[in-house]
Amino acid sequence: MADYQLFIDGEWSEAASGETYTTYNPANGEKIAEVSKGGRADAIRAIEAARKAFDEGPWPRMTGAERGAVLREIASGITAKQQELAQLESMDSGGTIRKAMLADVAGCAGTFLKFAEYAETVAEVEELPPVVMGPQPSPNYLRWEPIGVCGQITPWNFPLVMAAWKMAPALAAGNTVVLKPASITSLTALELARVCSDVGLPRGVLNVVSGPGSTVGEEIASNRLVDKVAFTGSTEVGARVMQLAAPTVKKVTLELGGKSPAIVMDDVNLDLAAKGVLFGTFMHNGQVCESGTRAIVLESVHDELLAKMKELAMGIKLGDPAEFSTDQGPLVSAAQLDTVERYVEIGKGEGATLVCGGKRPKGDEFANGYFYEPTIFCDVDNNMKIAQEEIFGPVLSVIKVKDEEEAIRVANDSIYGLAGAVWCADTERAKGIADRLRTGTVWINEHHILGPDHPFGGYKQSGVGSELGVWGYNEYRLKKRVHVDGLGQDPSAHLAFAMLFSS
Ligand code: NAD
Ligand code: MN
Repeated sequence: MADYQLFIDGEWSEAASGETYTTYNPANGEKIAEVSKGGRADAIRAIEAARKAFDEGPWPRMTGAERGAVLREIASGITAKQQELAQLESMDSGGTIRKAMLADVAGCAGTFLKFAEYAETVAEVEELPPVVMGPQPSPNYLRWEPIGVCGQITPWNFPLVMAAWKMAPALAAGNTVVLKPASITSLTALELARVCSDVGLPRGVLNVVSGPGSTVGEEIASNRLVDKVAFTGSTEVGARVMQLAAPTVKKVTLELGGKSPAIVMDDVNLDLAAKGVLFGTFMHNGQVCESGTRAIVLESVHDELLAKMKELAMGIKLGDPAEFSTDQGPLVSAAQLDTVERYVEIGKGEGATLVCGGKRPKGDEFANGYFYEPTIFCDVDNNMKIAQEEIFGPVLSVIKVKDEEEAIRVANDSIYGLAGAVWCADTERAKGIADRLRTGTVWINEHHILGPDHPFGGYKQSGVGSELGVWGYNEYRLKKRVHVDGLGQDPSAHLAFAMLFSS
């Protein structure tokens, strides 16, 4: 029997095929757990359970306040298990325990709390302007309703937070859910299902099916009983999901890749900018969709900044992510390590200059893990592959520009438009730059700060729609307009009828 099973229709079960797979700790290659490997049959069973729970169950018919109370219990359940969840997240994904406590578990609980608040307080019915077509006005109102069965597919980089960003708004709005986590990091999403089950979420409302994208993912994206699909992952797979969703015209939201710029202006404190740019790019090994992997630096401060960044990068302490003193753990998988190594070779071949890193660290403690040194390239031209393609690893490309105009032009010269940072002492000047960046998020003298109150989404090929905030909440609600005739029972008062009847 698998250590972790599928959560379908309120119960834990093995995959229909009986198949399992092993999930490993990327820091040392040791086995963590055996997980049921869902397939199409399991996805279909989960979708049918979610359909029934939506069409016949209590969840969509409860009041927002009632659903909010359940979400608050889920948040408490997460907080009660914070230590355990943080350890599991760190072990399964390779992120440090510091990040797991500060960002992952707290972010997950905070997301459920925020959407509990929205369920309780955001209006479900709004008055609309009346229609005047006849002797009396006719009142109109808008009723926000859940969409139905929401299929949700998440990536491996922030398993717990990505699951929360998907589940919490969907559930708050009264939808039912089938979530597929990334196979290599599915444990904490399954633990989240356990928390939801423990607080008595009605059966079928939340289903978590781990398994391959090619079977479980494709079934979720295409099954006619699914009303909406929300996907976070690569741009390539996102486009595929959109295509699979098209024949049944599902609502689609996509959070995709990025190659976010970090613009460094000439008036900035270079100690702040050096730390900030590295935080922006190396946090969680650059395995963050909005990582600032292109530093676009004004030439007058370029050399000094680069020297500071090199020194800081070489001081980042790689090691066991379970230790509180470790700054950086391993990459998530052997495949991701291969990708990074391949791009570093490409960068060298393209003529970029390696400033530091560019190799795996030496030492016994790193021998069985997927570690890679923080890597900085300078002399990068924005047309190079290492500046255009998402590497999703600890690789920073530094691009020298002569002035603000060129900085903005280079920043926007990307198929992506997820986020960007501006490092600049003059806030008004920075805001002027922010206005001109074609990205869904801009930080001024900061990076990575995302919160459940604020929308997060991509311009260009970085996505469709947004997550979080009231905007993200509304991506899980449909707008029904109701017109209440105010003209009474006399047909002659209905002036609109004249479009068909002459008398
Ligand atoms: P991925 O696209 O390979 O996989 C994402 C998810 O999709 C996984 O659960 C995977 O199993 C599933 N999947 C794969 N093929 C599928 C298919 N044909 N049909 C349906 N589902 C399928 O991405 P990844 O490697 O797990 O994650 C890294 C990528 O995610 C990066 O590009 C990163 O930028 C992006 N990302 C974006 C955000 C954001 O909010 N914009 C956040 C995190 C990660
Ligand atoms: Mn793992």
